[in-house]
Amino acid sequence: MTNILIENATLALTMDDAGSEIANCDIHVRDGVIQAVGPNLRAHLQGEQAEGLAVHRADGCLVTPGLVNTHHHLYQTMTRAVPAAQDALLFGWLQSLYPIWGRFGPREMHSGAVIGLAELALTGCTLSSDHMYIFPNGARLEDSIEAAQRVGLRFHPTRGAMSIGESKGGLPPDALVEDEAAILEDCIRLIDAHHDPRDGSMLRVGVAPCSPFSVSTDLMREAALLARDKGVMLHTHLAENDEDIAYSLEKFGCRPGEYARDLGWLGEDVWHAHCVKLDATEIDLFAATRTGVAHCPCSNCRLGSGIAPVRQMRDQGVRVGLGVDGSASNDLGSLSAEARQLMLLQRVQNGADAMSAREALYIATRGGAEVLGRSDCGQIAVGKRADLAIWDLQGLESAGSWDPAAILLAGPQKVRDLFVEGKQIVRDGEMQTIDLPQAIKEQNNLAKDLM
Ligand SMILES: [Zn+2]
Repeated sequence: MTNILIENATLALTMDDAGSEIANCDIHVRDGVIQAVGPNLRAHLQGEQAEGLAVHRADGCLVTPGLVNTHHHLYQTMTRAVPAAQDALLFGWLQSLYPIWGRFGPREMHSGAVIGLAELALTGCTLSSDHMYIFPNGARLEDSIEAAQRVGLRFHPTRGAMSIGESKGGLPPDALVEDEAAILEDCIRLIDAHHDPRDGSMLRVGVAPCSPFSVSTDLMREAALLARDKGVMLHTHLAENDEDIAYSLEKFGCRPGEYARDLGWLGEDVWHAHCVKLDATEIDLFAATRTGVAHCPCSNCRLGSGIAPVRQMRDQGVRVGLGVDGSASNDLGSLSAEARQLMLLQRVQNGADAMSAREALYIATRGGAEVLGRSDCGQIAVGKRADLAIWDLQGLESAGSWDPAAILLAGPQKVRDLFVEGKQIVRDGEMQTIDLPQAIKEQNNLAKDLM
């Protein structure tokens, strides 16, 4: 039973339906759910509402909903800044990393996920998806699930897969691909064991073949049938760069959006990563079918893939969330930095009035929650889950700022405090749930053994 009051925040940017921004704001939370939002709440709390109340002062702070990360490969934190992959395009980048990832096992997967999730938490994230698509040397999706349970973030892991190796015209080495029947069987096992569809769920599993260039058409189709049968979401990479489009045209005779449509990969229960190269027809198709997009601006810059047409997508009604992508293609995993990059890139493409700091933060919070099918998260409103990021406006990065809501223009880029389901994960900028220095040491030792 938690009973907490966040008290006297300079401003709460709620992302509720009315777009409310509340000055001198308190937030009352019981058992993980927001009970009340507004000024001077303490005087009105009586009886059991006041019993055992823990008060967290937020003077001089901005409170936002926790940020939502809609695309990641957490294991890749183990392979940041690998020299051979530093300057390559997507396909060459993948080919230099596949052999290294092939040497991973459960310990690497777990350690990478702990580090990646801690980095997300410290930069404001309360809910993250993950896309794990290689399972070498006994690795399992549970390696990342256990990491999320240790760190304390709300988690949507997806069971990825690759099945078309080099010998069959695919991109990955044969040693990293799996048998398609075994992939589907493991998806069923994981959903039955871990998926929790209820409101307030801390864990939802999705089905996520890696990309159209690493699995068969059959597997894409079967995965969609399985996900719908089980009532879980579908995720993959789509239309990431020009090579991706050329592969689709040559191999399937159509653009990625058409391929997705033909295989049952559009709808409210689907979200695609990147979508940098969607054309106007595909954007309309995504809007009409309520298909979601995980926009990953830093990764798109890092790999030179291009600028996703987020302005056009949002104007057409496409649901867009934000993702850091894997830490081999970012190589940061900072979600607040990602939100800033989203804002800046849309301005490069469309002008300075094309993406406000507030809209970018909306995409990073409520937008992401909607893409992940979480109407219970992503906003500060009565009845919603208490996933809250508290940003200290009294530090260096925001000194002299005239607008406390504009933290994507001026800072800070790290949270002071973070709550997930009303539980404190970060306090005064320090992780409360794990020994972070020890986790960093473990990761560095494991990474050294891979070099
Ligand atoms: Zn990715």
